[in-house]
Amino acid sequence: MSARTFTGTKLVVASHNEGKVREIRELLAPFGVETLSARELDLPEPDETGTTFRANAELKALAAATAANLPALSDDSGLAVTALGGDPGIFSARWAGSTKDFALAMEKVEQALRAKGAGTDRSAKFICAMTLAWPDGHMETFQGEVRGALIWPPRGDNGFGYDPLFVPVGHDITFGEMEPVKKHAMSHRADAFRQLIDACFA
Ligand code: IMP
Repeated sequence: MSARTFTGTKLVVASHNEGKVREIRELLAPFGVETLSARELDLPEPDETGTTFRANAELKALAAATAANLPALSDDSGLAVTALGGDPGIFSARWAGSTKDFALAMEKVEQALRAKGAGTDRSAKFICAMTLAWPDGHMETFQGEVRGALIWPPRGDNGFGYDPLFVPVGHDITFGEMEPVKKHAMSHRADAFRQLIDACFA
């Protein structure tokens, strides 16, 4: 079955994470869609009770689409570290605690890797599930990823979250050191977004 086409002019970006909202707005800019953020609309932030990226992306998009009575685009994403069995995964934001301290979250990842011993596999990937939901409850979801390796200490002030730890395959700088436009061309979010555009934007 083919995906539903987005025909509107306004879209809610169903996230309270300013870093993500900025990136999604930049991705949407060429499509002439007016974006409103969940924070601007004062929408409640639903609890992420899902056990997968897809489930969390769907519950966030649906909650925003229903509350705003507009199509809404959400992103649930995180860092999956191979040697940690995919952790922090869907708990990536939660590893930073209530103060959203990503220096602490990166430290936790590094400590967990060190606890695995010398020579541990440092490969990881960022995963992003993106859902476009309509107020009538219809949803389209796409999952993207980018593979890389984790360095220590963290490097670079660009981006957000775990970006200063992550060197994408084929590169020698972290996402934190990379020009945003370059990161956006290769990120997990860009991968999911390309699939969404191909499927839902005529
Ligand atoms: P959530 O999707 O709001 O549950 O949170 C995702 C979390 O994953 C963010 O708070 C970041 O910690 C991390 N994350 C997701 N995407 C990226 C990215 O592009 N760079 C760095 N960290 C990311």
